[in-house]
Amino acid sequence: MTPHPLPKIPFFSLQRQHAMIENELIDVMRQVTDRNWFVLGEELKNFEANYAAFSQTKYAAGVGSGFDALTLSLRALNIGVGDEVIVPVNTFIATWLAVTHVGAVPVPVDADPLSGNIDVDKIAGVISTRTKAIIPVHLYGLSCEMDKIAEIARASDLKIIEDNAQAHGATFNGQRTGSFGHCNATSFYPSKILGACGDGGAVTTNDTVIYNTVCKLRSYGSVEKHHHEVLGVNSRLDELQAAVLDLKMQHLDKWINERRGMAAFYIDALTGVGDIVLPYSSPRCRHVFHLFVVRTKRRDDLKKFLDVSGIETAIHYPMPPYLQPAYAALGYKQGDFPVSEDLSRTSLSLPLWIGMRAEELEEVTRAIRDFYSRA
Ligand SMILES: *Cc1c(COP(=O)(O)O)cnc(C)c1O
Repeated sequence: MTPHPLPKIPFFSLQRQHAMIENELIDVMRQVTDRNWFVLGEELKNFEANYAAFSQTKYAAGVGSGFDALTLSLRALNIGVGDEVIVPVNTFIATWLAVTHVGAVPVPVDADPLSGNIDVDKIAGVISTRTKAIIPVHLYGLSCEMDKIAEIARASDLKIIEDNAQAHGATFNGQRTGSFGHCNATSFYPSKILGACGDGGAVTTNDTVIYNTVCKLRSYGSVEKHHHEVLGVNSRLDELQAAVLDLKMQHLDKWINERRGMAAFYIDALTGVGDIVLPYSSPRCRHVFHLFVVRTKRRDDLKKFLDVSGIETAIHYPMPPYLQPAYAALGYKQGDFPVSEDLSRTSLSLPLWIGMRAEELEEVTRAIRDFYSRA
């Protein structure tokens, strides 16, 4: 059994999304190249204002990537060597690496078995005198329980930095993710819900001091040319990316609704099929389905079966950060975070991208039913 050389249904594709807006996309890019101003200009200003409004925050600062948005958030909150930061085990490794990068120590908390997000009941148990912050990650587009996290943070005087890389447009109790924390990081990596044609990210906040600090840090510690107040870096969202993102912002609400519609189709068609566990939902959370992740004990067999049927799937994430060689020095071992380990063995992400057709969604669910009917 070998998979199709080219999947009939790819796991992810930007082709149809970009075909829909091709003329506008080329127009905005040409406007930037005509203007010949590529870094820290009016496209960035425009996009930042629009993205802040979308995020329900006062400010948004465009930076080079989601990773940089996290590290600059940590630095803006004066978190570094000697500090501890609470992170979920079940996340993309960037969340952890940002903490390590500023010299602080990531302190992991296992996942909630239902939602897959950080288990809020396990946070208090890892707080120490060195703990400075919590980074809740709204994984796959589902918001964390921000009311409980805010309460814990308040009680222990911790800062909150939301990692909103996967949840543009998600809400918790009607409020947009990326607006709860003291400052919040997001990514505009091409495959995210709001994706650039390259790398990009942003920090959102309501705090003027934090905003100004991030703006300084992203540009060599300087606002005024040749005057460097802090030890900054070079991490700016460039004008081409800002223009592309600003254009895509105009379609974002529609596209998020499209994602939710596709997810609703999957949920309807896969309810009661085999041992499939569908994504957790809560009336308090508006899930935006950056990824559509199901769980099954027969994950590897199902993945193979779908591959052979021409349906490409993915695993988010096959190995938690603490078991990665890069984090060997922290000294964790297999069995330390059993819920996340179980998720890494059972999770399977189905194709869900803008422009996917009803027939294609149907084909995915038909193949999954087929798999279980053969068992
Ligand atoms: C994508 C992602 C990041 C990193 O974003 P980049 O723009 O790739 O640096 C961080 N955290 C999470 C949860 C992500 O999904």
